Amino acid sequence: MKSFRKELWFDVKSRREFINITPYVVDCIKESNIKEGLCLVNAMHITASVFINDDENGLHQDFEKWLEKLAPELPHSQYKHNTYEDNADAHIKRTIMGREVVVAITNGTLDFGPWEQIFYGEFDGKRKKRVLVKIIGE
Ligand code: ZN
Repeated sequence: MKSFRKELWFDVKSRREFINITPYVVDCIKESNIKEGLCLVNAMHITASVFINDDENGLHQDFEKWLEKLAPELPHSQYKHNTYEDNADAHIKRTIMGREVVVAITNGTLDFGPWEQIFYGEFDGKRKKRVLVKIIGE
């Protein structure tokens, strides 16, 4: 069995953003030379997510609106976590949207269902953060 590990770095200029990272993950699979196996992609920070969904701008705005309803950023004072930080909402949003995805690799590429794409969800940006890609297989 072969294994491959790579970190992808993102420096999101705004507090919140969704980035389609599918092309970077596909590049990792090519680099790994693994044709059949599993690919794990996870955020390495507790205020960011990796999730799979549609690359459709309206849906992304719906996610933003829904997450702000569940865990509004403001006022920062509404959260007990925000004594020396202001990112309690980001921790909660990350928990809702998930830490990682696992995708099958078949014939050297992601074995997706229709319209599936992998996203990095940033909820406390304006600094460099990492995503881990770990691939195992043959
Ligand atoms: Zn925090």
